[in-house]
Amino acid sequence: MSDNSNRKPSLTTRVAQALRFIEAETGAVVPSIQPAATYARDENYDIRKPYFYRRDGNQATSHAEAIIAELEGAADSLLFASGMSACTAVIEHLPTGAHVVAPRVMYHGVLHQLQTYAANGRITLDFYTAGNLGELAEAVARQKPSLVWVETPNNPNWEVTDIEAASKIAHDAGAKLIADCTATPPNITRALDLGADISFHSATKYLNGHSDITAGVLSVREIGPYWDEIVLIRKLQGTVLHSFDAYMLIRGMRTLFLRVEKCCKNAMAVAKHFEGHKHVEVVHYPGLPSDPGHEVAKRQTNGQFGGMLSIVVAGTEQTAIDVARYCEVFYPATSLGGVESLIEHRKTVSGVGFPVHPRLLRLSIGIEDADDLIYDLEQAIARATS
Ligand SMILES: *Cc1c(COP(=O)(O)O)cnc(C)c1O
Repeated sequence: MSDNSNRKPSLTTRVAQALRFIEAETGAVVPSIQPAATYARDENYDIRKPYFYRRDGNQATSHAEAIIAELEGAADSLLFASGMSACTAVIEHLPTGAHVVAPRVMYHGVLHQLQTYAANGRITLDFYTAGNLGELAEAVARQKPSLVWVETPNNPNWEVTDIEAASKIAHDAGAKLIADCTATPPNITRALDLGADISFHSATKYLNGHSDITAGVLSVREIGPYWDEIVLIRKLQGTVLHSFDAYMLIRGMRTLFLRVEKCCKNAMAVAKHFEGHKHVEVVHYPGLPSDPGHEVAKRQTNGQFGGMLSIVVAGTEQTAIDVARYCEVFYPATSLGGVESLIEHRKTVSGVGFPVHPRLLRLSIGIEDADDLIYDLEQAIARATS
């Protein structure tokens, strides 16, 4: 036998064991939930570190952050009450007049927030087409940005942006790069290793995986003054994740590797089945060799491609809506990354004016039996087109 004295268990093992958690006082293998809003000072009237008041953080939230920092290879991770509050902290920390370059089509909530800050004169905005590095370089050359926003794979068409190449473009211009990799969680895409300065995930999605909390997380490769500002914004805005939700998140993350593996396998089966289907015009899934983002995705998602795909159905907008409402296994609900599969007519959800194909259905593929998912879509499509 080889000398295993320095052997460290793999990330899969460490995450499954919540970093080998054992409570010091009791030996419990599951962390307790501490709901306190305030913490008593000690006999010298000093603060008992590290907690003082709920808005600074709490035990369960710090524990969940430590797990995510391991997953991301991060110097630090910070959990917020939602993905949107995490993104807003990043936008809020920018100095007035800062220039931001973002994808033209992206997660609608983040785009809406960027546009609101721009409309209020806090920032200026320019756009590139997701996945198009030439356009990104042109936008960065037009006006010097402070921040480049990348979402990959990108809602709702799942274009893939090469994080390594995009980081280089951003860094050469003196900008920081934030990567929203919500659709491919850090067990398959480690954005910081690829050069991103900030990795963002809506932990509402795959990290938690059970559609029962909202949470968002920022992770950084290096700690610096801008990170201190973001920590302060979370504290002053009171957007820290609640201890109960952090407990739920820890519980969800223990099965992250297992869930994501199954979601990716199922998504590939569904994508392959409907590619070339007579009632489906296009399947957007980076896992398909025909997809424009396939080669980059293969490198960037550890060959697993994620559980998100979209289909553009033939017919009319009403046909697409009918497919969504006739499904009996897929839930007709928004969100993604849960154990249950969801179908959504994206145009209905994104709102007026948002550029999305009127016949696009976004599918979040869960851990169910792939045959049940395929059969369900087949029967819904048959009913909608008959
Ligand atoms: C859901 C989502 C967000 C926002 O996160 P919430 O937890 O819903 O606030 C941001 N980006 C992407 C890609 C998302 O899917």
